[in-house]
Amino acid sequence: MDLIDESIVPEHARDVKQQAREFAEEYIEPNAEEYYRTGEYPWEILEAGMDAGLVAQDIGEEYGGKGYDLQQILAMAEEFYKADAGIALTLQLASFGCEIVEQYGSEEQKEEYLRPVAENDQISGLAVSEPETGSDLAGMTTTAEKTDEGWVLNGEKYWIGNGVEADWVTVYAKTGDKEDRYSNYSMFIVETDTEGYEAEHIPEKMGMRASKQAHIVFDDCTVPEENLIGTAGGGFYMLADFFNHGRVVVGGHGLGMAAAAIEEAWAFVHDRRAFGRDISEFQAVQHDLADMLIEFESARALNWRAAEKVANHDNAGYWAALCKTKSTETSVFCAERGMQLHGGRSNLTDRRIARVYRDVRIPVIYEGANAVQRNLIYRQRQ
Ligand SMILES: Cc1cc2nc3c(=O)[nH]c(=O)nc-3n(C[C@H](O)[C@H](O)[C@H](O)COP(=O)(O)OP(=O)(O)OC[C@H]3O[C@@H](n4cnc5c(N)ncnc54)[C@H](O)[C@@H]3O)c2cc1C
Repeated sequence: MDLIDESIVPEHARDVKQQAREFAEEYIEPNAEEYYRTGEYPWEILEAGMDAGLVAQDIGEEYGGKGYDLQQILAMAEEFYKADAGIALTLQLASFGCEIVEQYGSEEQKEEYLRPVAENDQISGLAVSEPETGSDLAGMTTTAEKTDEGWVLNGEKYWIGNGVEADWVTVYAKTGDKEDRYSNYSMFIVETDTEGYEAEHIPEKMGMRASKQAHIVFDDCTVPEENLIGTAGGGFYMLADFFNHGRVVVGGHGLGMAAAAIEEAWAFVHDRRAFGRDISEFQAVQHDLADMLIEFESARALNWRAAEKVANHDNAGYWAALCKTKSTETSVFCAERGMQLHGGRSNLTDRRIARVYRDVRIPVIYEGANAVQRNLIYRQRQ
């Protein structure tokens, strides 16, 4: 059963999808359970992904990448997340924050910071969320104050992917106090070895354990004036635009995991007997699988439609929120049904279905909790 077949994927994204599939089969799938169990950062798989040319290649060709577009990244996400969400997150986050530098940064910033990531010598991160809020982007309290020495950052960030491992992070900080609270934020490039940058891993997680997030403290962390990205006060809008792309890809996280749940449940019910027959012969079981397929195919059709809309800047915020919500909730639905069909064995921690069940709880929250997506869907319907 090839649930994430290429028929819905535009022609130009099919080659990289196939490469991602082969990589996932060789490197991600066979190692997923072990990395989940140990909770270690999958450096070896990240390096293999770099060697295969599948990491950080959304960066443009002029800065050393392959310039993969939204549809190509979505195609890769489906394949990687079907194989394992924790490892997939690590692979796809290695260039997190670069998109903002590429779109709004100066030529000097792009040369200095994008090229090493595209050439896989460095990894990056994006630091937005804080201990007190992740949803209220205009309510964040980390500040950046302009002084003669440069921009001085103070405050805390929480849940930051690669906050410990990255060479530099794109940081969202408050630079103004205007009544229009959306104009008070700016973006900065902060090298992680800057004095006043302290990061430690957050406590062990239930899901996506092969990815690492950090709690960062900025204590008079001073970066040069030229590390401001674009114009001061434009940070909120940069982020909003970036999230439109990100949410289409997070939809792909959901689709990959939903496909994994269906595949796993399908295999299990065709190999388990009760009352003298395969449990797949019970109509109730068949209906569960049919419901999973209905939800999955609807989500996938919406997600790929949204990818086209967002790529064409056609009411992007609306389509991004729609597909992120639908695809991630479809993965929750499919994982829950898949667990039920596994009976008592659903509780065995080393089962793939149990791993997927834990992982699906995350994309309904990150890149904007789904409740916030529903606010956006209602408000942005034109
Ligand atoms: C594994 C993982 C990786 C992450 N990686 C990163 C990263 O690399 N960089 C980064 O910056 N952040 C990252 N995050 C943080 C993530 O983006 C936030 O967790 C998310 O935005 C939600 O913020 P919060 O956890 O503070 O929840 P809160 O903002 O406290 O919200 C809690 C709940 O309140 C409800 N709620 C909040 N606001 C509203 C509203 N306006 N309307 C309706 N309901 C609402 C929702 O149900 C929401 O789930 C990551 C999170 C996880 C779990």
